[in-house]
Amino acid sequence: MPITDGQAQQIKEHLLKQLDNFPEDKQEQIKEQINSMTKEQVENFIEQNKLTHLGGQCIFCAITANQTPSYKIAENENNIAILEINPISKGHSLVIPKAHLDELPQSTKDLAQEVSKKLQKKLNPKEIQIKELKIMNHPIIEITPIYGNETEKKQASEEELKSLQKEITKPKEIKIEKEIPDTEELTEQRKEKEEIPILSLRIP
Ligand SMILES: [Zn+2]
Repeated sequence: MPITDGQAQQIKEHLLKQLDNFPEDKQEQIKEQINSMTKEQVENFIEQNKLTHLGGQCIFCAITANQTPSYKIAENENNIAILEINPISKGHSLVIPKAHLDELPQSTKDLAQEVSKKLQKKLNPKEIQIKELKIMNHPIIEITPIYGNETEKKQASEEELKSLQKEITKPKEIKIEKEIPDTEELTEQRKEKEEIPILSLRIP
């Protein structure tokens, strides 16, 4: 099960968080061991300890490993964003860390912000909801554009998903004329800088 350097780093960080479970006099030694692990050693460790379901039942691991077809709309080193195939609104998307971890990495949240801004710009919903979820123990972020006419989740056709994927990933048109932006555009620019709060599922 090959993993990227970034994933190996994420897994190491995850392991370091478990140090409290070890006797105090061993912690320093274990910490050193974890830090000195090579990428191959991290891979072996995961295999031996069956820490993930990679290639197994976890649907999100299958999607990020390209074993299940999906409609990708964005990506960074450790995460991908795809269109929900049973959307409740146009542009309903999921941001998925490539590694099967306990905690949602910051890079996933960063990609979710990036995708939300793109959806806001391209699809112009009234607002966008961003929510943390954990499905099959794989943490993900759900992005739901809200237009005010949301329906029940219903399956989108391949054609709809393909054309939406194209619409969202289409590069920006370059304007040659530089005009003074009107107020509406300024509002748009301000909106772009604002972070959308991520709703956490955790109950305090
Ligand atoms: Zn998974």
